[in-house]
Amino acid sequence: MKTITGTNEWANTTRNICNGCRNDCKYCWAKAMAIRFGRNTPETWKDQIALPDRLAKTGKGKPTRIMFPSTHDITIENLDICMDALDRMLSRGHTILVVSKPQVKCISAICERFGNFKDRLIFRFTIGSTDDTVLKFWEPNAPSFVERILALEMASDMGFQTSISCEPMLDTNVERVVKAVTPFVTDTIWIGMMNDVKQRLAMNGADALTLQRGIELAQSMNATQIMELYRNLKDNAKIRWKDTIRKMIYEILGEDWMASRLDEFVDFEEYNHAMTAQWEKENVSDEAMANAKADSAAVEARRNGVKAIYTIGTQGMNDGAFTDLLQSHNIDLVLDVRLKNEGQRYRFASGRHIKELVEGHGIAYRHDVRLAPTAQMQAAWRAGGDWSAYVEQYSKLIADREMIKLIKEHLQVFKTPCLLCAEEDAVHCHSRLLAERMCKEFCVLIIHLKRKVGI
Ligand code: SF4
Repeated sequence: MKTITGTNEWANTTRNICNGCRNDCKYCWAKAMAIRFGRNTPETWKDQIALPDRLAKTGKGKPTRIMFPSTHDITIENLDICMDALDRMLSRGHTILVVSKPQVKCISAICERFGNFKDRLIFRFTIGSTDDTVLKFWEPNAPSFVERILALEMASDMGFQTSISCEPMLDTNVERVVKAVTPFVTDTIWIGMMNDVKQRLAMNGADALTLQRGIELAQSMNATQIMELYRNLKDNAKIRWKDTIRKMIYEILGEDWMASRLDEFVDFEEYNHAMTAQWEKENVSDEAMANAKADSAAVEARRNGVKAIYTIGTQGMNDGAFTDLLQSHNIDLVLDVRLKNEGQRYRFASGRHIKELVEGHGIAYRHDVRLAPTAQMQAAWRAGGDWSAYVEQYSKLIADREMIKLIKEHLQVFKTPCLLCAEEDAVHCHSRLLAERMCKEFCVLIIHLKRKVGI
């Protein structure tokens, strides 16, 4: 298995129906590839040419998550063919991540036409700076900052899932972008750096000024700057760090940080190995080492002896499988976070039964209804409600009821708790949300025992 990087972090595959891109971004990876393989020159890349013969293929294959487009943008000039492609992909059952430096007219047309696909159409708009002079320099023909924000606000108002890519960051003021977009983002905000700056810009035919600015930009994204950004934004639940930044943070914070973000990697062992090798190979500065030591002491203090947070669902379980899992992970407390722990359809799911079962294996059981969602929230979600609304309400409940304080009461006695809920699916379960909040607090790994964790 490979470490997930680049566009693979976002989707399983990509689709494109144009060659070239009118935005003509100076740092464009697709442009560099097109020049390298002789499909374009630095001058012809901006001549976006539609490729209608690709349309038939766009919708094919088993339903999966597709990033569209990835080597061009959706613009007024190619809007019709892009809509046609979207129609084919959505009708086939695919989930589409539309990645764009958005033009309001294009996003408006897409929202109007595909209003029935809000569950499978997600927007991710690229905004690397709030400063139009910076945007104009790096992305000469792309929309202004205000136009991108308007497109975002519109998609959000129309009930679509929205997210942002601040990759590449085009200056050191990315926190301004985060602040501006946050009210309209329902999903995530990805932050990343420009890759292979010198080679990429040179390949794309950059002039001396562009090369100079590229080098300055790369130098400004140093470890101190990135760590400050990380510390300022790490508690924002919408923030996701791209691989370039994760590597840098890992070099500073080491395994503790990596462990707390395990779910972002396909293969922790492989990534850990690669990063350790890099750590050893590179000449790490004294300052970085001192920071790393200070950080690991702080992390240790936050952990307070807790090694990991586990979750488990009653669905699909039986006595043997349940206790085997708990024992193999040395769980010392089953913390039942369901609203009701009795009156279930299955005998196994009964709190009384589970208590008796686990206590027979030397594991404690507690039912803490203060950690459960309210009856109204649960009823609305079960009646087909909106997951993001549920997440928002439960997150608020976590804060209002001071759930972390409640958890700490349990942790005075127990150090390897496992949150128990009903669902086998951890994705749509409040126990996952609570575990993620705990993960932030205690800086530890989350392990979902035999639960579905991917969408
Ligand atoms: S919008 Fe994307 S594909 Fe188009 S030039 Fe810019 S980086 Fe390249």
